[in-house]
Amino acid sequence: MKADVVICGGAIIGSAVAWFLRDLEFDGTITVVERDPTFAQASTALSASGIRQQFSDPLNVAISRFGVDFIRGAQDRWGLDLNLRENGYLYLANTDAGADVLRANHTVQVAAGADIALLDAVALAARFPHLEVDDITLAALGRTGEGWFDNMGLLQGFRRAEVTRLTDTVTGLRVARGKVAAVQLASGDEIACGVFVNAAGPAAAEVARMAGLDIPVERRKRTNFLFDCAKPPDGALPLMIDPSGVWVRPEGGQFLTGCTPPADPAVAPDDFDPRHQEFEEIIWPALAARSKNFEAVKVTRFWAGQYAYNTLDRNAVVGPHPEVANFLFANGFSGHGLQQAPAVGRALAEWIVTGGYRSLDLAPLGYERIVNGQPLTERCVI
Ligand SMILES: Cc1cc2nc3c(=O)[nH]c(=O)nc-3n(C[C@H](O)[C@H](O)[C@H](O)COP(=O)(O)OP(=O)(O)OC[C@H]3O[C@@H](n4cnc5c(N)ncnc54)[C@H](O)[C@@H]3O)c2cc1C
Repeated sequence: MKADVVICGGAIIGSAVAWFLRDLEFDGTITVVERDPTFAQASTALSASGIRQQFSDPLNVAISRFGVDFIRGAQDRWGLDLNLRENGYLYLANTDAGADVLRANHTVQVAAGADIALLDAVALAARFPHLEVDDITLAALGRTGEGWFDNMGLLQGFRRAEVTRLTDTVTGLRVARGKVAAVQLASGDEIACGVFVNAAGPAAAEVARMAGLDIPVERRKRTNFLFDCAKPPDGALPLMIDPSGVWVRPEGGQFLTGCTPPADPAVAPDDFDPRHQEFEEIIWPALAARSKNFEAVKVTRFWAGQYAYNTLDRNAVVGPHPEVANFLFANGFSGHGLQQAPAVGRALAEWIVTGGYRSLDLAPLGYERIVNGQPLTERCVI
């Protein structure tokens, strides 16, 4: 077997690269190798499906601005309603230092074209009367371009690209003369390849090692909880990020919530055991203190997924390896990869077709910063 492009991982990132290649009228052969086409443990399927403009790095703002426009266009492009709810993200600060961070981020975000408003406690209480705001020093609310959408719908759209899809596991990479020459599969088959794309999500480091390469990406577990609320707050609610790090948003008639766990070790590939105690010990106390409406709640469902966490700077690693030049990374999204899939898919497709980035320059997310130890730190990671 051979293919001009072999993509390891057929979830949101791998499928986005394949779709944009066809959108750019790439007429070479593309093979997507996916070990589990049910995506049961893929981050894509386990995601909270949010999209926001509130990042500290302007490139991440630009990436998400492209993402939200792309999602808005799904109906015209594919006839798919991705159920985008542009209710915004609401960041809360309860210290002067926290307010300074929101102001600094706001300056970056607005300069990058994002539609974010700063609210003091009085304005916050007027807008969201259910919230306890006595301790709040400042809030930042996305007025447009932020919210949540149908993750599997976006995947379904990207999977319309005409490519060869193999249900198999990449087990090895044969590197010769500074290039990935062939991709070895669990079935025993081998695919000679022109370009290899690592879109293996939390398995990114294992796949990189198959080519003798290192990437500082670890598996970090996040537990999401869905709950019923006896007296839900009124109105169109945003995704709120409490100063405690607990976040919550509406999900149909229920609410979806989670937190950044205080201890956040790397976990084993098969560790998807939800951390039940996070709800009782961290999430519920924070939510009940922020709103009386969240005092009487009942968890109805919960699941754990894995972040592909970049320990250098919590940002994606995108683009070619400097020495194994046909090995392309699309890894380390650290909890914001779903919304970045359109921009990253387009950028890598441009790189494959033309040898460079054409629309949005993703070079700052390149692998070189890892070699040089120069982090491009993203402060707004949920
Ligand atoms: C709980 C949780 C909440 C999140 N919330 C958000 C959010 O609100 N907004 C947001 O933008 N992002 C969010 N994310 C992050 C986002 O889901 C991921 O960044 C994104 O889905 C990454 O997509 P991916 O295709 O790289 O990885 P995955 O979806 O994990 O897909 C990788 C695929 O590669 C396959 N694979 C791996 N190794 C091999 C191999 N050797 N051979 C063949 N196939 C292989 C896997 O089977 C898998 O299907 C969240 C993640 C989690 C876990």
